[in-house]
Amino acid sequence: MTLYFILALLILMTLWLGWRYFKLRRGIQALLDQLKRGDELSESANELGPLASLRNTQHAILRERLQSAETQRSRLSTILDQLTDAILIADADGRVQFANPAAEKLFGSPLAGRSVVEAVRRHQLADAWRRCRETGEAQTESVEVPASRHFLQLIVVPDRDTRGGTLLLVQDLTRVRRLETVRRDFISNLSHELRTPLASLKALTETLQGGALADEDAAPRFLGRIVTEVDALTHMAQELLDLSKIESGQVELVLRKVEPLSVLRSACERMRVQAERAGVSLTLEETATPPKVQADASRLEQVLVNLIHNAVKFTRRGGSVTLSASEEEGAVVFAVSDSGAGIPSEELSRIFERFYRVEKSRTGSGTGLGLSIAKHIVEAHGGKIWAESEVGHGSKFSFKIPASR
Ligand code: ADP
Repeated sequence: MTLYFILALLILMTLWLGWRYFKLRRGIQALLDQLKRGDELSESANELGPLASLRNTQHAILRERLQSAETQRSRLSTILDQLTDAILIADADGRVQFANPAAEKLFGSPLAGRSVVEAVRRHQLADAWRRCRETGEAQTESVEVPASRHFLQLIVVPDRDTRGGTLLLVQDLTRVRRLETVRRDFISNLSHELRTPLASLKALTETLQGGALADEDAAPRFLGRIVTEVDALTHMAQELLDLSKIESGQVELVLRKVEPLSVLRSACERMRVQAERAGVSLTLEETATPPKVQADASRLEQVLVNLIHNAVKFTRRGGSVTLSASEEEGAVVFAVSDSGAGIPSEELSRIFERFYRVEKSRTGSGTGLGLSIAKHIVEAHGGKIWAESEVGHGSKFSFKIPASR
């Protein structure tokens, strides 16, 4: 009896173990299938539960890390794409592995796969890269490209993650350089422009002090010249102030719908007396009515006055100055034409620069700032100014302002 009981117990235990084994195998097979598919593992209550839970936790951590790495990578890639500085990454063999869009714009594309020497093309930059590889230390080098008048600065550092690799950063400092030159020129021009009237004021006052004050003929003449010089200095100071305000954006444009012909009429009337005194005819052509422009009327008039002032100044007695406005491709083109001295073609591109005057002796008075101011005002309106001229036959100054919608 006892034997039967033990036998039955053994059979039952064998069946139970077989069933457990069968369940475990099925569980393992299910886990393997889930792992293969990359699914979340089902955490059953059996022996495999803690294993599945551990793997799920690790999976979640890994996914989070991957996501954060992907976010970082995409951020870095956006920064590199948007960066105006050129970035190149080279491997230990000196082959470019990565180049951002700014680098391809500067050196031409494609750059990946080329040697650094081939990519940067300038031997000074290539030498700096070689020095960095030899010494393992960061190097800086500047180079001017005479053909394109570009000024480049290279910073090359060893890439610590890859032995022998390098990271190159090339900055285009052309604009900064140009601004520095403009600033230097501006100061030197300004001091030069101030020296002449100040020297003549000093000479005039010394002459008066030296006895000319008692001379009834000479004294009023000298005083008159002093007034003229002081007026010229005041005019220059006013123009400089205007220019600096416009350039620094301190002048706010009061934009309204403006009738081009009404601004032309107003500027024409303001300059009428000066033109009559110079014996130059001043005419406004009113053949068509151009559309209104979105503009600051007083600033627009200032541009016209500057242009008419020049046109009258550089036209001989008996000559003519004509004003007009016409519609052109969604804009209005204002023009001031004269039959005056004209401007040599090689100087046309420079007359809008501060202090630039064509043959200073010919001009006599003037600061060389009027056209600069006009250019800034026109550009602040989203427009463009240009000049056409022929020496001996006259000049035509035009500027374009978008028509108002
Ligand atoms: P300025 O105070 O000397 O007139 P601008 O900036 O107005 O200064 O003009 C710069 C230079 O451009 C002038 O000095 C002159 O040489 C030349 N210029 C401007 N307008 C005319 C013109 N209508 N005809 C001939 N030359 C001109």
